[in-house]
Amino acid sequence: MSSRRNFIEKLTISAVGLPLLAHPTNIFATSEAPYQGPMLKVALMGLGSYAGRVAEAMQDCKRAKITGLISGTPSKITEWSEKYNVPKKSCYNYEDFDKIKNNPDIDAVYVITPNGLHKDQSIRVAKAGKHVICEKPMGINAEEGQAMVDACKAANVKLLIGYRMHFEPKTVAVIKMRKDGEFGKTKFFQGQSGFNIGDPTQWRLDKELAGGGAMMDIGIYSINGARYMLGEEPVWVTAQETKTDPEKFKEGVDETIQFQMGFPSGAVANCLSTYNMSNLDRFFMTGTDGFVEMQPSTGYGPIEGRTHKGPLTQPHVTHQTLQMDGVAALIFDGKQPIVPVDGEEGVKDMKIIDAIFEAVKTGGKVEIKI
Ligand code: NDP
Repeated sequence: MSSRRNFIEKLTISAVGLPLLAHPTNIFATSEAPYQGPMLKVALMGLGSYAGRVAEAMQDCKRAKITGLISGTPSKITEWSEKYNVPKKSCYNYEDFDKIKNNPDIDAVYVITPNGLHKDQSIRVAKAGKHVICEKPMGINAEEGQAMVDACKAANVKLLIGYRMHFEPKTVAVIKMRKDGEFGKTKFFQGQSGFNIGDPTQWRLDKELAGGGAMMDIGIYSINGARYMLGEEPVWVTAQETKTDPEKFKEGVDETIQFQMGFPSGAVANCLSTYNMSNLDRFFMTGTDGFVEMQPSTGYGPIEGRTHKGPLTQPHVTHQTLQMDGVAALIFDGKQPIVPVDGEEGVKDMKIIDAIFEAVKTGGKVEIKI
């Protein structure tokens, strides 16, 4: 875990020198006047490392605030409820959180627990009548993802996945350029996503809790990125796994996978997902009329990149602040981000991960229908 944090913090270091900008690119703010509308009341579930980052980022949100906590660790409830001013009546554990049903101070729950717990926890939140925001990967396979989509539909609540890059200004600018045809016909995407995983005892290396290894955790960024950079859904995948440390990366926990995807237009993608290499956070995409390269491409930022037209200059804004204000805009105003963050979007990535694992097993080309 610490090496993941070190890696992502390295990516953030260059942000320290930036002047403090108050929401310089808050794409959801409609005016400079103080926001008067409703606040999205969010309970955080799973008070671990990423929830800590989300909680800090939410302090700068204009439209979302922390109003509840769900944790299996009483000492964290004590600490976090004081720090974020959450009353004890809005704090729960994993046994009793169904009671949020009767809590008008909670509109949505952000599920930030290990991947293997997402499905059941999200479905319980939906059954309690609250919107679900769930971290990526939404579950551990497409079947779980679809069950979550169905449960949220049945409960008439929204299911939104933590795809923070869909709100990140440089990423959004590149997607706009692609939609405007500035790259011409998109032809090739290369994605490299990985870091050294560190501590062998963590849940990320436990098949039951993680659902896999690097692919579920970090490779998913290259999958999702290939789709939003090329603007198409893949129709086939091939994949090859390399395992150099079978003690650490046990059966079903992938260390390094290279994978290739083919798209209906004839565009292709070539990607690498790993838990055993450092500093892999790079996207490249080329089309008939131009190119873009981003490095870092999906870390906490600042994202850096350039296209055939020059550097990407959109300012850095804490991703999770934009994301949570964006989620509020989606829930309250129906305002969609440039690429969806809904459960169906999550299921697409899960179908591709399922196909990649099958391709590794069979050694063949696996066709997919997204
Ligand atoms: P952590 O291990 O730091 O935190 C997970 C928390 O979940 C724990 O602290 C614990 O909180 C709770 N939990 C409940 N049951 C278990 C269990 N059986 N084992 C371990 N923890 C448990 O993980 P992260 O915060 O790094 O990751 C959580 C989720 O967020 C994952 O799905 C991950 O993929 C995603 N993530 C997304 C990122 C992004 O950029 N979008 C970045 C990092 C992670 P408590 O003690 O309160 O119960």
